Amino acid sequence: MQFTVDHVIRFLERAAALIRDHSIELTELDALIGDADHGANLNRGFTAVLAKLDDLVDEDIGTVLDVTGRTLLSTVGGAAGPLYGTAFRRAGALLAGRRILESAELVAALEAALQGVVERGKVRQGEKTMLDAIAPGVETFRDAIAQGVLLEEAARQALAAVEQGMRATIPMQATKGRAAFLGPRSIGHQDPGATSAYYIACAMVGDVERLMTRSRDVSSAC
Ligand code: ADP
Ligand code: MG
Repeated sequence: MQFTVDHVIRFLERAAALIRDHSIELTELDALIGDADHGANLNRGFTAVLAKLDDLVDEDIGTVLDVTGRTLLSTVGGAAGPLYGTAFRRAGALLAGRRILESAELVAALEAALQGVVERGKVRQGEKTMLDAIAPGVETFRDAIAQGVLLEEAARQALAAVEQGMRATIPMQATKGRAAFLGPRSIGHQDPGATSAYYIACAMVGDVERLMTRSRDVSSAC
């Protein structure tokens, strides 16, 4: 299975649609342990990305991801803008000039994105952030591909790991970001950033499913 610029652009369109459709939910989660802007922030950013996609169809994958990252950096604001922006830019830097990718390169790009979040956020797993959803997903996908699991199944396993990681933030106490100011009162709420990471992962996996099954349906999981 090979990935092209078209696949990346469709992923970004689907991510923008899912973030828009779940924007209120993300903001409501942020209202509980933050400042009630996560959905609005991300929706603004992905809407700005969407407006640029038509001009990017002839570019390489690295450029599309880099423009996406820079657009998120300049439009999302808050903590999530620099974090997602860095993630997309790191993946873009790794894939500079590439027009076709194999699964192994997709793994490498996801690992670069993950590393970007870790470094930019100065964050570890267990601190109740987007990393708690992203890291298990990337690790599960990497291990499945390394073991020769078929792409569609590897993607499904990864999405399940992201979802589990997202839910695992509920009992955690936040030690990074605004939620950390609440101390123990942050316990019992799902992290907004882990939730947006889940929807972005859904957009990625839904595309794989559609490719493999040639179905036009959005992933049933999301
Ligand atoms: P802000 O907190 O500045 O209002 P957002 O509401 O857009 O920004 O994003 C909040 C989310 O950002 C949190 O739910 C958390 O997942 C993530 N986050 C905050 N700080 C960090 C960090 N240092 N590392 C990783 N993720 C973080
Ligand atoms: Mg916020």
